[in-house]
Amino acid sequence: MIRIDIATLFPEMCENYLSASIIGRARKAGFIEINCRDIRDFSGNKHRSVDDKPYGGGTGMVMQAEPIYSCVQDIVNNCKEPYPPRLIYMSPQGKTLTQEAVKRLAAEKWLVILCGHYEGVDNRVLEELSFEEISIGDYVVTGGELPALILTDAVTRLQEGVLPDSSAFINDSHWAGELEHPLYTRPEVWRGRAVPETLLSGHHANIEKWRKAEAAKVTSNKRPDLIR
Ligand code: SAM
Repeated sequence: MIRIDIATLFPEMCENYLSASIIGRARKAGFIEINCRDIRDFSGNKHRSVDDKPYGGGTGMVMQAEPIYSCVQDIVNNCKEPYPPRLIYMSPQGKTLTQEAVKRLAAEKWLVILCGHYEGVDNRVLEELSFEEISIGDYVVTGGELPALILTDAVTRLQEGVLPDSSAFINDSHWAGELEHPLYTRPEVWRGRAVPETLLSGHHANIEKWRKAEAAKVTSNKRPDLIR
């Protein structure tokens, strides 16, 4: 079972998402352990402030190194895991997250994910603790919470027991480099559009053939860049 600790200034934001739906059920059932840790608990001052102005001037605030360092140390020191965690900093400067990266991280035993906020975090703590930086894409959002939730979600759904079986994710888009075939559900005809006949035939080999051909078509139409 994988364990994920999320170090954030907004644990309640993360908890909300992680308590619902498939991930909420997976946590309750013990298929994954996820803890949201408040970096403000390590501010070291009564105002619980954890940020300050950037050296050199400029707008915005920078998250200080020490509260982040203490938070990560506390996570590591207060747990019985016999191995160190992989430390990840969600950052627009990191390598872009892909399904291949998700597979690699899903095979880890323990991830500690740091969420930045404001202008970002003091660079020295990233160097001191050797964080791997991961981006969700070439754009900037206000904080690392959504990126951390995206990574946690993608990793969680690959854990044993979370989805009914592995066919629930190995046929998904990007697992093997292609996009998934189109999907249909009831009714058979909707606003004059009928479900492709093959899918109603009950002939499994033909359905499989149809799905493979459609997946290739969809990939070539929507994401020709994925075709090797
Ligand atoms: N000043 C930073 C820069 O230009 O690289 C951006 C700071 S951003 C407003 C605040 C925080 O949001 C970052 O520290 C990071 O944790 C998170 N963040 C923003 N965009 C992200 C992205 N594309 N991927 C992952 N995390 C991101």
